[in-house]
Amino acid sequence: MDSPAPPVTRFAPSPNGRLHLGHALSAIVAHDLAGAGGGRFLLRIEDIDGPRSRPELAEEFRRDLAWLGLKWEEVPAQSTRLGSYAAAAEALRARGLLYPCTCTRSEIEAAGALPGLEGLIYPGTCKHRPPDPARPSAWRLDAEKALAETGSLVWEDALAGPQQVDLAGLGDVVLVRKDLPASYHLAVTLDDASDGVTLVTRGADLFAASHVHRTLQALLALPVPRWHHHPLLLGPDGEKLAKRRGSPALAERREAGEDGRVLAGQLRMQLLSLGT
Ligand code: GLU
Ligand code: ZN
Repeated sequence: MDSPAPPVTRFAPSPNGRLHLGHALSAIVAHDLAGAGGGRFLLRIEDIDGPRSRPELAEEFRRDLAWLGLKWEEVPAQSTRLGSYAAAAEALRARGLLYPCTCTRSEIEAAGALPGLEGLIYPGTCKHRPPDPARPSAWRLDAEKALAETGSLVWEDALAGPQQVDLAGLGDVVLVRKDLPASYHLAVTLDDASDGVTLVTRGADLFAASHVHRTLQALLALPVPRWHHHPLLLGPDGEKLAKRRGSPALAERREAGEDGRVLAGQLRMQLLSLGT
C-alpha cells in the first residue's frame, strides 16, 4: 500500500484580537499533525475583516508561535488575495448560485429567523423578491440550487468520521459580505485550496462550516482535503474557554516571562486527555 502523502496543515488566525489558549491549542494541533506525518505547517493571516483587522497583531502572532516553540511557513495574507475571491464569486453568480441580500440583522430577526448551527438561519426573504439596487447587498449561496448541482456530498473528519453534507442547519450562508469581496466561508475555502492544504485543522466550534466548504469545493472544482476538528478547551466550569472569560492573552503570558514551551507541553497533555 502507498504511504499517505505528507499532510499540509495551517493555522489561520484573524488579527482582530490577541491570541489566547484556544488559539495556541489549534496551532499546536496543526503543527504536530504536520510534523508527525513529515508534512508542512503553514501560517496564514486572515486579515480581510477591514476595520476590525489590526496589522500589528500579525507580528505579535508570529512572536507568540515562536514562543510556543513552533516553526512554520508563512503564506500570503488574505488581504493580498481579494481578486481571487471576487473571481470565484463572479463565477458562482454567473451560474445563478448566488442571490443578493439587502437584509440587516434586525430585519432578519424580525422575519422570525430560527437559530441554527451558526447564528440565525436566514429565512430566505431576498430570494423571493426583486433586488433593490439602492441598498448595499451581500450575496448568499442558494443552498437548494447548490445541492441540485452537487448532489449528495461527503466529507471526512479525522475524529468524527464521514459526514454527509447537510446545509439545513446553516441555510443560505453569505459568501460575499456587504463590505468585502468575500466572507469567511469563501475566502478560507479558496485559500486552503490554493495553499495546497490537505488537512484542515481547527476547533470543533467551526465543525458546521465544513459543510459549506465541502459544497464550495464541489461547485468550484477544488481539491477536497480532510478535516480534523479538535475539541475545545473548557474552563473549570465546563464552559468554552473564551478570552472574555478572563484568560490572559498569550502575549501577556510571554511578556510576563512564562516559558511558552512549557505551556505548549501542558496543552499537549490536555490534548491527550481530550482524546485527540
Ligand atoms: N480565521 C479563523 C479564525 O480566526 C479561522 C478559520 C479556520 O481555521 O478555518 O477563527
Ligand atoms: Zn435578505
